Amino acid sequence: MASVLRTDSLTKVYGKNTVVDHVSMNIEQGDIYGLIGRNGAGKTTLMKMIGGVAAPTSGAYEFFGEKDNTKTLSRIGCLIESPSLYPELTVWENMMFYNKLLGITDKKNIDEILDYVGISEAKKKKTKQLSLGMKQRLGIGIALIGYPDMLILDEPINGLDPTGIVDIRKLLLKLNKEKGVTLLISSHILGELERLATRFGVIDRGVLVDEITYEELLEKTRKAVRIEGLDPRKVVVTLEEMKLNDYKVIDGGKVMVYCDTGLSGKINRALGEKGMYAESIGTVGQDLETYFVEKMGGGVQNA
Ligand code: ADP
Repeated sequence: MASVLRTDSLTKVYGKNTVVDHVSMNIEQGDIYGLIGRNGAGKTTLMKMIGGVAAPTSGAYEFFGEKDNTKTLSRIGCLIESPSLYPELTVWENMMFYNKLLGITDKKNIDEILDYVGISEAKKKKTKQLSLGMKQRLGIGIALIGYPDMLILDEPINGLDPTGIVDIRKLLLKLNKEKGVTLLISSHILGELERLATRFGVIDRGVLVDEITYEELLEKTRKAVRIEGLDPRKVVVTLEEMKLNDYKVIDGGKVMVYCDTGLSGKINRALGEKGMYAESIGTVGQDLETYFVEKMGGGVQNA
């Protein structure tokens, strides 16, 4: 897969505080990259640097393999913190304002985008009259002006009611699937990202402590009984007899049995009956939330 964004030791220091600390992340084409971290972890600051709003103290980043970021600016759309809307202007006029900023003279894209993000009925409303959910849609609409290949969205679901959350999630998935837009989305709430992200980055006190695909995460958090210290060839014979066919031999001899972990005692007894006494037999696999909480040193919320 082609790389869309690569950062190299990106760092931001405010006074004596290193709020983004040597972050090297990688986002590939088509990814929905969920950046998760507690409040204050450095997500917004990282996104601001990538979005060209804040200058890095050190480090670098490149979009689409291009080091000169001025060349790729038009391919990126950003919604960082709340959208800057002019309250007395209508939805359409706000879009028009940003259109002009980007030097787009054709107005056709405005109606097209408003329709796509689902707020065309409100296009004549002043933005001060909009609900939070509609403002978010408009913010995403503004970020879509110029039809970017990548969208950077800082906490796009923050503060929305449950229906609003579902709507925005559907919109983001649609953008990704139908238009092939690569997404970088931050959140401090795991529940918002776990149904969306294809790759996760975990940030804790400015440090990217983990980067993992959804598939890798499923594999890591898969429940299993782990048997150590026995000849795996003999172990698997017993497992087959017990009709436990989903197993894997790892690290030169440990046997992982993917099954209800409550079966560990039964497996142990079955092995014992054949004179095989394991050095260790235990269970592995945590739920997603526990995995992230441990990575982040506690504090992730689920909703
Ligand atoms: P998050 O988005 O994960 O909640 P932020 O990037 O907003 O985190 O903030 C990370 C840290 O950087 C916080 O401790 C915050 O107070 C600090 N910070 C953010 N912006 C500034 C700034 N302009 N000046 C000084 N400190 C800042």
